[in-house]
Amino acid sequence: MRVCAECGGELEAAFRFCPWCASPQRSKLVEFFRAHPADRGKALRVSRYLTEEPQVRFSVWSSDGVAEAAVSLEEDEADRLSLFLGAASGALGAGPSRSARAFPARRGFARRLLRRT
Ligand SMILES: [Zn+2]
Repeated sequence: MRVCAECGGELEAAFRFCPWCASPQRSKLVEFFRAHPADRGKALRVSRYLTEEPQVRFSVWSSDGVAEAAVSLEEDEADRLSLFLGAASGALGAGPSRSARAFPARRGFARRLLRRT
């Protein structure tokens, strides 16, 4: 068990956010996204920095594990992107179940990519 620095509530070490006060428990969250088959081997890494200067950084990774390009968005632009993607996935009929099915494969991909770097 860990203790939240913000409210003192107890929480599991794996929690990203405090369940009692919602304050972030890590300064950076990272998630990898597998590319479309047309870009097989590449990946999109999204890093959310929960620091005093919050930002969301997108980087494109090659199959060799090299970052080819990167750009950071401010929080309001990242929120706008989230709304855009939410609207798009609704139009395509892609619900949470599709995401859940892809999850184990995605984790494997991220592990492979991380081993290379
Ligand atoms: Zn808390």
